[in-house]
Amino acid sequence: MPEAREMIYEGEAVSQGIAFGLVHVVARGFAAPEVYPVPEGQVPAERERFRRALDKTKEQLSALRNQIESISGEAEGRIFESHLMVLQDQALLNRVYDAIASRQQNAEFCFYAVMQTFLEAMRRVSDPYLRERATDVEDVAQRVLHNFAGSTFEEADEPDHRHILVAYDLTPSDTASLEPGHTLGFATERGSTVSHTAILARSLGIPAVIGLKNAVLNIRTLSPCIIDGYEGKLIVNPSPATRSHYERLSDEKSRFRTALDSIRESDTKTTDGREITLSANIEFEHELAQVPQSGAKGIGLFRTEFFMLEGGEFPDEARQAGLYRRVVEAVAPHQAIIRTLDVGGDKLPGEPLPEPEPNPFLGWRGIRYSLDRRDVFKDQLRALLRASAYGKVGIMFPLVSGLREIIEALDVLDQCREDLADKGIPFSDNVEVGAMIEVPSAAIMAAEISSRVDFMSIGTNDLIQYTVAVDRVNPRVSQLYKPAHPAVMRLIKNTIDSGKANGIWTGICGEMASDLILLPVLIGLGIDELSVSTPRLPLVKSAIRALNYEECRKLAEEAVGLPESRLIMQSCRRLAMKAYPELLL
Ligand code: PEP
Ligand code: MG
Repeated sequence: MPEAREMIYEGEAVSQGIAFGLVHVVARGFAAPEVYPVPEGQVPAERERFRRALDKTKEQLSALRNQIESISGEAEGRIFESHLMVLQDQALLNRVYDAIASRQQNAEFCFYAVMQTFLEAMRRVSDPYLRERATDVEDVAQRVLHNFAGSTFEEADEPDHRHILVAYDLTPSDTASLEPGHTLGFATERGSTVSHTAILARSLGIPAVIGLKNAVLNIRTLSPCIIDGYEGKLIVNPSPATRSHYERLSDEKSRFRTALDSIRESDTKTTDGREITLSANIEFEHELAQVPQSGAKGIGLFRTEFFMLEGGEFPDEARQAGLYRRVVEAVAPHQAIIRTLDVGGDKLPGEPLPEPEPNPFLGWRGIRYSLDRRDVFKDQLRALLRASAYGKVGIMFPLVSGLREIIEALDVLDQCREDLADKGIPFSDNVEVGAMIEVPSAAIMAAEISSRVDFMSIGTNDLIQYTVAVDRVNPRVSQLYKPAHPAVMRLIKNTIDSGKANGIWTGICGEMASDLILLPVLIGLGIDELSVSTPRLPLVKSAIRALNYEECRKLAEEAVGLPESRLIMQSCRRLAMKAYPELLL
């Protein structure tokens, strides 16, 4: 039978794990509802039907927000605030009320027509974050349509057996409604790693893969399948050999997790005694408990964007100080390095702009935004200083492109210290201040920058994209996004060497820090700290403990002179394979 043939769909892994199960395909889309004429006298009743559908949707979304808040915390729950805001957009709703009267057609069709025009406009903007938000608006629109029909959204397509969901796209509320024990994993054709859907999948702990081509069209419900949330694959009708490979892998991964737990308290030292600080990258407050559990020595990067922007307006100084205090207390006696607001580019915009930026990645981002919006910047800096009275705080500035920004940012920080001192509010004199090195100009100027700060942390995600001029979220050019590009390696080397010459430490907080192939060259270049996501941390620790610093140093000396990333990868892989083959499975 044709469907018994093994088919491998490859995409992008956004949430780790392996799951076995039966496929359930959901082909739901934003389909046009039936259209029919409405006589003039019926217009008020038709408008009332629309109003009732809106009220019902608001109730459902509020319930969903409460449910998610209780599972994943306040920040995730707030994702549904933006959904609720769509239903409060009076200008948009008025267009629907007007359309019912002017078109004299049924309310659901008028609503559909208005929303389609709105969604088209959203999808055309150049800002990738706003484009991604079109999915949220579509999500709300689908719910309203379902509520006209009188059916509840959750009832649609829900199988009663445990399954792996395959869908064209999943909206955040689809994802939030999934029950982890019932939906064992999901795979979609659309989506991106920065979408809320991916973020929620990770926080629910469901393996997930996105970007699979033609999956909905070709895969049949009830086909047996395996989802590989490490490599980004969905294997439909797996052969006995594939199945046993994955059973082995899954067993190994869980044995491995248990074994890794045993090194949680051990030092992160190479076999010849060079110590590396391993710290955690986090984005949400609810992840704090995982920091000590993973064995991390504090936080190397706390991204504050989600907290700062998800409520629709910036939290005030006192609220920020409360969160930062909880963060430092959770990781005591270690340090929590908190990054000041990093908006723009692929991230959330700081505020609505009068017109979209032609090149958001080269636009009003990171420290540039903070230096222009001193009020916002000062609130955040004062809140960070206030938290320093309760534990070890590090402050880090994103997207620095040269010395002037550092000088200005330090100056604003001094003003904030004076403000607090004047008011008699306590703060520590020992706050480390660092620069993220993620723009090539900053890496080249590392000697000057490192003379002004206490540490540098290399943001390789951005450093790579700016060095090789490849948008980090554009799949069309992703094959050119090469972490081991010789130019990237030389910039990293220059940064680390400059830090050492000025007596400060240098870390990496981009994804490269948990790349087990490149780890030998990073150690060999003399990196002092690596900050990685908590699920990856035990793996990275285990790999460091298997490496020999002297060997890594020799490798790095050679590798940095190599002319192609392929060759650098080859020599790193050789050493990694020798030191920890079991981790590279
Ligand atoms: C980076 O650019 O490597 C980084 C850590 O910052 P972000 O991914 O938040 O841009
Ligand atoms: Mg960055």
